Amino acid sequence: MANAWSNWSGFVTASPKVIATPADAGELAELVHSAPGPLRVAGAGHSFTPLVQSDGTIVSMEKIAGLVSHDAENSGARVRAGTRLGDLMRILQNIGQGLPNMGDIDRQAIGGALGTATHGSGPTLGAYHTQLEAVQFVDGQGKLREFSRASGQDMIHATGVALGAFGILTEVAMNNVATYRLRRRKWVLPIADMLQNFETMMAAHRSAEFYYIPFSGYAQFIASDFSDAAPTPRPTEDDEEGLATLRKLRTVLRWLPSLRRALIRGAVKKVPSEDYVQDWLNVYASDRRTKFNEMEYHLPYEEGPKVLAEIIALTERHFPEVYFPIEVRSVAPDEFWLSPFYKRLTCSIAIHHDAASDPLPFMRAAEPIFRKYGGRPHWGKMHSLKAADFKKLYPRWDDAMAVRREIDPENRFVSLYMAGLFGIQQ
Ligand SMILES: Cc1cc2nc3c(=O)[nH]c(=O)nc-3n(C[C@H](O)[C@H](O)[C@H](O)COP(=O)(O)OP(=O)(O)OC[C@H]3O[C@@H](n4cnc5c(N)ncnc54)[C@H](O)[C@@H]3O)c2cc1C
Repeated sequence: MANAWSNWSGFVTASPKVIATPADAGELAELVHSAPGPLRVAGAGHSFTPLVQSDGTIVSMEKIAGLVSHDAENSGARVRAGTRLGDLMRILQNIGQGLPNMGDIDRQAIGGALGTATHGSGPTLGAYHTQLEAVQFVDGQGKLREFSRASGQDMIHATGVALGAFGILTEVAMNNVATYRLRRRKWVLPIADMLQNFETMMAAHRSAEFYYIPFSGYAQFIASDFSDAAPTPRPTEDDEEGLATLRKLRTVLRWLPSLRRALIRGAVKKVPSEDYVQDWLNVYASDRRTKFNEMEYHLPYEEGPKVLAEIIALTERHFPEVYFPIEVRSVAPDEFWLSPFYKRLTCSIAIHHDAASDPLPFMRAAEPIFRKYGGRPHWGKMHSLKAADFKKLYPRWDDAMAVRREIDPENRFVSLYMAGLFGIQQ
């Protein structure tokens, strides 16, 4: 019987001949030599694109996890690539270190988060890959190799965002920061005010982001700043409860859109503000139980408000089934060749669609808006782009492809989906 694999949302499935769970780099090398191809590595399967899909071998990294070593003086740590972010947070806190920033959840493996340029929010804060000091990986010929900033920054920049196609990461050395505490505040404001003051509000905090609640006219703004104050309790999370209410109003008031708007508006206006202080590891991540599919585009920062206004208009005019909030973040520019933040301060806009129904009509309608403004898609979230599009969006695309060919000359890591992304004839 074939093995069954699916991603978090259930949208991507695979029936590989083999699902392998190697325990170390030696077993990984053996797989690269002899397992049926293509070999695709899985982190936690939280990507919405078919990056992990393979009818050959899916490699699970769950046994290759944990701390290898650390450097207390420089807040550096070397960890195995299968380590989940939730475990990594606790490992780092125990050695007096912290991740400078995080995204919405802590379920991903560090190898997976690096693989798609996973990010949080903050105009001076880079995505996870910007913390890379060194990478150790098994290449397409089964050889264990290492690149570090010390031996040549270019190779780190070429392979830091690697989509599981530049070798299988076994260990990564990361530059962290000393452990710290944050004050987090959340409040609701009219979206018109948010759009008008976008740049000032996003830049006024170490980390800021907001969610637009569709059909409400209101956004929830979330700001985090360093604090030395004593910790206060983090309020019980009510995101799931809020989603359930939005879904119910969507379904019950399908034929009464004005009443739906009025009720959502009333409910959102009453959402209480939040203000608490906690250690970094208790602040960033939330629990996401309601399954969705997602598209996120990374845009030139200054285009953010214009794009968001168009996405809101599209959603509210044509997609009444949508009830998930639209998420807006900022990300610092970096130098990684396949990073969507390459040399560009970014405004990221993410749209979500209930996993129980087909997300494609909504995503297909939104994508041309994102693309019109020069958006680069999140590698792990839905998009329809192929090699010819990426070549236009990524100035170092050809250089990155040359490095990929050197690391994997026999295309062991190239599935049908990856061949489309990279423009490889199979
Ligand atoms: C509920 C939810 C919330 C999310 N929140 C955010 C967010 O806040 N910010 C954001 O940017 N993204 C977010 N994402 C997207 C997610 O972070 C990315 O898709 C991420 O890549 C998933 O990590 P993973 O460990 O599940 O990797 P997978 O999806 O399993 O794999 C991702 C890529 O990494 C490669 N890979 C994995 N491990 C290795 C390895 N050891 N060596 C080489 N390649 C490897 C895979 O081959 C694949 O190409 C979210 C997704 C979900 C489902």
